[in-house]
Amino acid sequence: MTSIKAVCVYCGARAPQTPAHLHAATRLGELLAANKITLVYGGARIGMMGVLADSALKNGGKVIGIIPDHLQQSEVGHQGVTTLHIVPNMHTRKQMMFDRSDAFVVLAGGIGTLDELFEMLTWKQLKMHNKPIIFVDTEGYWQPLLALLDHIIESGYASPSIRQLYTVVRDVEGVVDCFPR
Ligand code: AMP
Repeated sequence: MTSIKAVCVYCGARAPQTPAHLHAATRLGELLAANKITLVYGGARIGMMGVLADSALKNGGKVIGIIPDHLQQSEVGHQGVTTLHIVPNMHTRKQMMFDRSDAFVVLAGGIGTLDELFEMLTWKQLKMHNKPIIFVDTEGYWQPLLALLDHIIESGYASPSIRQLYTVVRDVEGVVDCFPR
């Protein structure tokens, strides 16, 4: 049993682009529900986010969605989640997602996913928190980003110690094992 009670998952607002990404979002929802871990996410009914939330709910999991008012239309606020918080702006969303979570997991996504991920990485670098951050590297999706981080370190613009800010797992099956007991 892990001490982690709620996990924030960052992932795309677009539909899964490969069967492996669809599987990752579906399976992560199942795993969180099975381990009685609350899912905290961006509150959308669409895309990777919707697949993840639907899967957690279908398996009896608790799901907290946090969506800014102005995205309720475009990202379609998920009315079926356990709690849907409608917040005034992106900053409030990110802060609330941070406050409600004990760890962060990153599935495939776009620049919104990156924005959210990098805020958590940089806050951790600044010692503002020490929560686990886990990349799920489905089909090597995050390899170019991890290579960029290596390049940044090799170029002297970050300490090699930034590699300790995050963990990379090959697939979602490894996620729960990364959490502290
Ligand atoms: P994407 O990875 O681009 O598909 O976006 C994933 C999620 O990140 C969506 O719910 C976006 O609304 C959200 N997002 C994009 N930019 C930001 C931001 N600056 N702060 C918080 N969430 C964001």
